[in-house]
Amino acid sequence: MNTVAQQSISADNLAKQSSAHGAVLERLRGMLPAASVITDAAGLRPYETDGLTAIREMPWVVVLPETEAQVAEIVRCCAEHGVPIIPRGAGTGLSGGARPHQKGVVLGLSKMSAILEIDPENRIAKVQAGVRNLAITQAAQTHGLYYAPDPSSQIACSIGGNVAENAGGVHCLKYGLTVNNVLGARVVMASGEIVELGGVLYDNPGPDLLALICGSEGMLGIVTQVTVALLPEPETKAVLLAAFCEVVQAGNAVAAIISAGIIPAGMEMMDKMAVQAAEAFAKAGYPLDAEAILIIELDGAAAELATLNTQVTDILRAYGAYQVDEAHDATQQARLWKGRKSAFPAIGRLSPDYLCMDGTIPRKALPKVLTEIDTISQTFGLAVANVFHAADGNLHPLVLFDANVPGQTDHAMAMGAKILEACVAAGGTVTGEHGVGVEKLDTMCVQFSSEELQQFFRLKAAVDPTDLLNPGKGIPTLTRCGELGGMHVHKGRLPFPELERF
Ligand SMILES: Cc1cc2nc3c(=O)[nH]c(=O)nc-3n(C[C@H](O)[C@H](O)[C@H](O)COP(=O)(O)OP(=O)(O)OC[C@H]3O[C@@H](n4cnc5c(N)ncnc54)[C@H](O)[C@@H]3O)c2cc1C
Repeated sequence: MNTVAQQSISADNLAKQSSAHGAVLERLRGMLPAASVITDAAGLRPYETDGLTAIREMPWVVVLPETEAQVAEIVRCCAEHGVPIIPRGAGTGLSGGARPHQKGVVLGLSKMSAILEIDPENRIAKVQAGVRNLAITQAAQTHGLYYAPDPSSQIACSIGGNVAENAGGVHCLKYGLTVNNVLGARVVMASGEIVELGGVLYDNPGPDLLALICGSEGMLGIVTQVTVALLPEPETKAVLLAAFCEVVQAGNAVAAIISAGIIPAGMEMMDKMAVQAAEAFAKAGYPLDAEAILIIELDGAAAELATLNTQVTDILRAYGAYQVDEAHDATQQARLWKGRKSAFPAIGRLSPDYLCMDGTIPRKALPKVLTEIDTISQTFGLAVANVFHAADGNLHPLVLFDANVPGQTDHAMAMGAKILEACVAAGGTVTGEHGVGVEKLDTMCVQFSSEELQQFFRLKAAVDPTDLLNPGKGIPTLTRCGELGGMHVHKGRLPFPELERF
């Protein structure tokens, strides 16, 4: 699948054509070991896409610095010569945020993977940006602590990428998104200056620039180091599996549990197609006849948990669950979660390609929007599997398609856009946790007015006046929105005029 790939310009050819690129390449080769400046096609290939594999572009050059000082020097060099920079963590992003630029430097942070400090007294960890999410919890576990935000990609994704996307996960319902669990960050700005945002406490004077960096998708600065809050492992937890004959029943049960004042540690929903795929992949013990299942984790003190467990089970039954099972031990709990956490790769076995959408809606709109997604799926003739953070209203409809069928990638993307439009119409938003990247530029035109988009541009221009940090991502141009014709008119995917000026 290579629908918008262009011919790669070899690094040395571009360097010959452009004196700016020549000067940058020479400086990069002078400051980093040879193996950390990648210019050959085979070495560049792994960086041509992220988790949004429908969109590819060969980078001009990839650099892999090992220190913050090197990151700052790379940024200063690119700034002097007007060459764009695309920060990259582990490349698991699903919205094309790390999509390379044909004339830009991909700045990969994977070699900055040191855990600098675990401080159990203050319950914090200081880590470099390239550290994997799960590695933080693994390092903290010996102290009975863990890092709460747990994207399903946590085995691979980096904490820097989590900050840039304001990543969520199963436990974010109770413990908050990345922004709620990050205390401080060191950031290289577009000028190459290094700033320290936040600290080790929950509040700091002045405007909350740390919160601004969370979710900024590599467009406002490059995160080199992160200080995160660690939480004590809960005294005890229970994991329940509830099976329903109708998706709508499961949606109503979710709303009823939250309305009863209960905040589970996690509450996830999967529809029949997702259940069947995950079961075949992970052997989690899911009921194959269910139209929808909920996986619910409750945590806290043992005495409190017994009461909660009964309350939740009663609600599930009252809303139509025909089966409610509790995992008997930690192994079975892990098995139930394994099915959910491997649902995306499991769906990958059903179809050559899929697009993972990421709309968020008010909880009470769940049944209505799920029905609408079904209708959109029938209209477009492409299957959809639903796996999502139900209690947050954060939907992940997976649109199944085959990129080898001419036109089907665009058709799938148009269908995905329709789903996001339905989310906005229900009072929701076009992204819950995966970011805008390039994938949702068009649907941003649906959610925001031109006045609102201009505020985003003013902010970006104030921090990165020459637009060198991850240009063309996150904020659609007003021209793009104008060409799309305003609200709720999706006319197919446009090219990326935002990138042509470099
Ligand atoms: C199977 C699967 C499951 C997933 N499940 C979830 C989930 O449950 N919740 C969730 O939120 N996401 C999920 N994701 C999406 C993805 O894992 C997250 O968005 C993650 O935060 C990306 O981290 P990364 O290191 O891979 O970043 P990348 O993909 O490399 O980059 C993502 C964006 O961040 C920027 N960036 C990366 N590092 C830095 C840095 N150090 N400084 C500045 N900008 C930077 C990039 O420019 C890009 O815009 C999933 C992805 C997959 C493939």
